[in-house]
Amino acid sequence: MKDISEQDLKSNIPLASKKENTPKSRVTVGNHVIGGDQFIVIAGPCAVESESQIIEIAKEVKRLGASMLRGGAYKPLTFPYRNDRMFELGEEGLRYLHQAGKEAGLPVVTEVMDGRLVETVARWADMLQIGARNMQNFPLLIEVAKTKKPVLLKRHPGSSLRDWLGAAEYLLYHGNPNVVLCERGIVAPHTHDPTSRFLVDLEVVLAIREYSHLPVVVDPSHATFKRSYVGPVAKAALAIGADGIMVDVHPVPEKAAVDPLQALNYSAFRDLMLSLRKIAEAVGKTL
Ligand code: PEP
Ligand code: MN
Repeated sequence: MKDISEQDLKSNIPLASKKENTPKSRVTVGNHVIGGDQFIVIAGPCAVESESQIIEIAKEVKRLGASMLRGGAYKPLTFPYRNDRMFELGEEGLRYLHQAGKEAGLPVVTEVMDGRLVETVARWADMLQIGARNMQNFPLLIEVAKTKKPVLLKRHPGSSLRDWLGAAEYLLYHGNPNVVLCERGIVAPHTHDPTSRFLVDLEVVLAIREYSHLPVVVDPSHATFKRSYVGPVAKAALAIGADGIMVDVHPVPEKAAVDPLQALNYSAFRDLMLSLRKIAEAVGKTL
């Protein structure tokens, strides 16, 4: 939705909006720059399940060409019940994720849901993820801004670009310039599958370029919620000019503790990377 007025650009999102000569922002995470010539591939499981699981995945996605590792230690699960099939490891998971990133040579991104845990998560992560559900949790955004760590700000499925950039403005205004936006699907009256919940808004990448200098990545996994759609949407994200993707990868996706319908196995991820390489070449990006 084109819902941003001239007045907004001046008064409400002066920091997130683009002036005539504002260069595109580049956000450095570890040894990678998001928003430059490289198309960033952030890969890993939805949830960190064990130390050996995350180390194995980290090494494998690194070998296949990923630039960063993802993995949730604190999960915004829809229902409160946890069991040995669906769980989150909390701080233990953060330590495993950190170790895996170190062993594989990949910077790590993970979600922080609670203002009281920002310091803890920041200790172990290279980039802090604000989940879709918390996009407008302003006290959390302010705490995260204070760390000055790179932030991956996911879009709430019901939010306009105006609201999303408003949330980014909080981070910028509170002193953190290292903001990367992440499109992960919006609510629409129709989807194309009984299990899918959102539609990917690829046009928003173009709208962001029109209004803002902030980099944007697309999460085709949480957006489609459907394994067979993930690769094609990831490729479309690169073709339309996104700065990267964040994709769920799991050795046995059907057995993933969280979100088993959307993760790619290693072989599907390898095929995706091969296609992305060709597209990157065609559009003048590196991988
Ligand atoms: C995730 O990336 O693990 C996640 C929970 O995503 P979202 O906030 O987009 O639902
Ligand atoms: Mn998930």
